[in-house]
Amino acid sequence: MYLTQGLHRSLQQTPDAVMTVFGERTRTVREFADRVARFASALRGLDVRSGGRVAILANNSDNYAEVLLAVPWADAVLNPVNTRWSVAEIAYSLADCACDVLVVDNAYAHMVPALQAEYPGLRTVIFCGDGETPAGMCAYEMLIAESAAVEDVRRSGDALAGIFYTGGTTGFPKGVMLSHANIVTSVLGAAASRSLFRSGGTYLHVAPMFHLADFTGGMIQVLVGGTHVMLPSFDAKSVLRTIERYSVTGAVLVPAMIQAVVNHPDVAVHDLSSIENIMYGASPISENLLTRALSTFSSGGLTQAYGMTELAGLATLLAPEDHVGDRMRSAGRALPHTEVRISGRDGVDAARGEVGEIIVRGGHVMQGYWGRPEETADALVDGWMHTGDLGYMDDAGYVFVVDRSKDMIITGGENVYSAEVENALSSHPAVLECAVIALPDERWGERVHAVVVPRPGHDIEGSDLRDHVKSLVAGYKAPRSFEFVESLPRTTTGKILKRTLREAHVQGGGAAGASG
Ligand code: ATP
Ligand code: MG
Repeated sequence: MYLTQGLHRSLQQTPDAVMTVFGERTRTVREFADRVARFASALRGLDVRSGGRVAILANNSDNYAEVLLAVPWADAVLNPVNTRWSVAEIAYSLADCACDVLVVDNAYAHMVPALQAEYPGLRTVIFCGDGETPAGMCAYEMLIAESAAVEDVRRSGDALAGIFYTGGTTGFPKGVMLSHANIVTSVLGAAASRSLFRSGGTYLHVAPMFHLADFTGGMIQVLVGGTHVMLPSFDAKSVLRTIERYSVTGAVLVPAMIQAVVNHPDVAVHDLSSIENIMYGASPISENLLTRALSTFSSGGLTQAYGMTELAGLATLLAPEDHVGDRMRSAGRALPHTEVRISGRDGVDAARGEVGEIIVRGGHVMQGYWGRPEETADALVDGWMHTGDLGYMDDAGYVFVVDRSKDMIITGGENVYSAEVENALSSHPAVLECAVIALPDERWGERVHAVVVPRPGHDIEGSDLRDHVKSLVAGYKAPRSFEFVESLPRTTTGKILKRTLREAHVQGGGAAGASG
């Protein structure tokens, strides 16, 4: 099987169905596939050889989806770029992957001269945005118009399909090498779950398309066939409007997006009844938010996914019908394509209910980190991906992710999982968002510290929050200090940058407004 297989099937079965919707622009399956085949041909014409790297630095669009499929069609390697990076970071990654072709849109075209100055190896830049093509760049539309369609290479197996970067939550993002087989295994395994996106459905791309979460969701929809609606970037009101206007059936949303959508003042005004399934994941979600999301998207289900870039997407899914009772806190069970274990001390499996490191094996596990052999050797042991996530498994195989090992707090010799404390804090009506981190402490080794964004119009005292948490979890887990802020630093997929919060204190920031 190969990455573009679903597109060929759609072409055979529903050529006149709508494939993409972006703003007022609509393309049928036939038009889309023809453009993909022509752009693949253009890449060949630009001397992109088998295995050559093609980077894309752009906001979500229909063209982005075409590039994602044209690159494998031409037997080249995808290199989606994180749009949050600085010029220096982008230039570094382009040089690191030896990319010689870059596709950009209006939002990032201004960076190109500086990128070329820092990385002279960037020989071709293709402009896929709207309006006039900047000097020195090739016009995407012209390349498509002037190139004759080529046959799909239909590459499969262990050849490199893409270098995808991790979220950069715990450090500078690492390039993850994924083969065609890795991606196909993951997408096929996930598509086998009946709770995901159905054939003929309408999928909303609103999480960034450079990130593997949306890439996976989108590829599932390509595999089964359906329409793709793109929003250039996240905005809660546009999400509500777009769901209603295009009768969207499914999307991948990260918790920070769900939070913004369910809190939007117009949430009740819009008809969201077309939603069949929202897949969410990528970071922990509080029960409070999950409960609100279930009532907001009450027409359909919510499916939680647990996975990572290194796993080409997903390892476990919590099906809609499992969103009851204690299982609401679980990330679900292993999908058919994967094996999941909880590794305890000395690599022996932890007993059911006991916390250890989540480790995963299967045909979807990455080939390694690009240019980082030591980190690859640490992460991949006998084919098992060591996720760095802590969790436990119940008797029926449900996996509960409790924290990243890097975020766990050890206070007075006791382990405290930040996500558990955040969940307790979030259930206080005055808390909009929060992050719980470890700060160095002379007496306790590490101290539990909470950074809280209050809900507008609410006054809160640290001591009240501490009492609230103590009423829900063991006393030693309750934060000993608090700080109140207007917003939390986040990655593009909405993950809280705890390292930034910790660094602010180590660099002498102190706990502003601390009380305890
Ligand atoms: P980096 O590796 O650069 O620090 P990252 O780990 O955030 O960034 P991703 O590969 O995008 O990069 O994210 C994978 C991580 O996201 C997982 O290791 C896990 O910590 C977290 N995660 C994913 N799904 C869930 C989930 N359902 N619940 C809790 N955490 C999740
Ligand atoms: Mg990671």
